[in-house]
Amino acid sequence: MNKTIAILPGDGIGPEIIAEAVKVLDVIAAKYGHTFDYQTVDIGGCAIDRYGVPILEEGMATCKAADSVLLGAVGGPKWDSCPPDIRPERALLAVRKELGLFANLRPTRLFPQLAAASPLREETIGQGVDLMIVRELTGGVYFGTHTTETVDGEPKATDIMAYAEHEIERIGRVAFETARKRRGNLISVDKANVLDTSRLWRATMHRLSAEYPDVQYSDMLVDATAMQLIRNPSQFDVIVTENLFGDILSDEASMLTGSIGMMPSASLSSGTLGMYEPIHGSAPDLAGQDKANPLGTILSAAMMLRYAFSMAAEADAIECAVHMVLDAGYRTGDIMQEGCTPVGCAQMGTLVADAITQIG
Ligand code: NAD
Repeated sequence: MNKTIAILPGDGIGPEIIAEAVKVLDVIAAKYGHTFDYQTVDIGGCAIDRYGVPILEEGMATCKAADSVLLGAVGGPKWDSCPPDIRPERALLAVRKELGLFANLRPTRLFPQLAAASPLREETIGQGVDLMIVRELTGGVYFGTHTTETVDGEPKATDIMAYAEHEIERIGRVAFETARKRRGNLISVDKANVLDTSRLWRATMHRLSAEYPDVQYSDMLVDATAMQLIRNPSQFDVIVTENLFGDILSDEASMLTGSIGMMPSASLSSGTLGMYEPIHGSAPDLAGQDKANPLGTILSAAMMLRYAFSMAAEADAIECAVHMVLDAGYRTGDIMQEGCTPVGCAQMGTLVADAITQIG
C-alpha cells in the first residue's frame, strides 16, 4: 500500500519521539512492502517562532489531504505568555476541529513487565489493567466561549461548557461499538448530580443503551470514577466521558501503567482520517536530552496502522516488538527498574525496529 502520513513533530520531546516512530514505520514499510510518504508540518511553538501562528493554513491543508496524521506534542514554557489565540495548544484544538476528530480512544494497558513501575500495590493491580477511555474531543468547555472581564473592580473569568445532543450521541455510539469489540462493559462518566450538560449526557446514553442490549451499561460520577480507578482499576472495560473529565481521568489512568510515556491514543472522525499521538505533553524537562520514552508514540503509530490502514499484522508486529524489548529488560528512565538496562530515546526506537526484523 502507498500511504501519505502528515507528520507533526511539534515541540519539546516531540521531534525526538516522532523520529523513533518514523524509524519503526520505515522498518514496517520495508518488511511488508508498503510505501509511506511523510509530509512534515510545523505545529505549536516552533510554528509560532517561524510564522507567528501555531499552524499555517498550508499545514492544515496537508493534514486534511493526508491518509493519516501522526503528532508528537506541542507547547512549552517559552510560549506560555503568548496571547490565547496563538498559543501552541490552539493549533491542536484547531486540527481536532478542522478534521472533525470528535472521538479520542485512549487504551490503558499495564504491561506485565512494568507491574513494579505502577504506583499501586501488586494486590490492587494483580488482576491487570486493560481499559479503554473514549473521550469526547471537540465539545465541552475546551470549545466553549472563554471570557475574562472586570466585574465590580476585580477580574472575573468565565468558560462555557456546552454539549448538543448529537455530539453526545455520536461519541456514545463509538463507545458502545468499542465495548462490543472488547469485554462488553461500558461505564458512562458524568457529574449529573450538578451539571446540566451531564444530565443531557446521561439521558442520551440511557436512550442509546436500549439499542445495545448486549453491552452491560452503567453510570458513574466523575469523582467516584477518579477514586475507583485507584481502588479497583480492573473493574473497568470501556469508559466514555466528556472532554474535560476524559482529559483528567486518562492522565490518572496512565499512571496505573507506570508512565505516561507508554500511552498511545487515536483521535477519530466519522470518516477514515484520524490523528494518532501519545497522550503526554512536550515534557520540556526532558527535551533535547535523549531521555524521553518513545514507546507511547511508537504504539500510537501501531494504532494508526490498525485503525487507519487496516494493517493488523503490521500493528501486531510493533506491539509484539515492544513486548520483546521490555522482556529483554531495556528501559528508558521513566520506567527504569533495578536490574534492567537503561537506554535513551533513540536506542529504544532502534531496539523496537530491530525486534520487528526478528519477528517471523
Ligand atoms: P507532560 O506530559 O509534558 O509531562 C508530565 C511529566 O511526564 C513530566 O515529568 C515529563 O517529564 C513526563 N513525561 C511526559 N512524556 C514523557 C515521555 N515520553 N517519557 C518520559 N517521561 C515523560 O505534561 P506537562 O509537563 O504538564 O506539559 C508540558 C507541556 O506540554 C505544556 O506546554 C503543555 O501545555 C503541553 N501539553 C501538550 C500536549 C499535547 O501536545 N498533546 C498534552 C499535554 C500537555
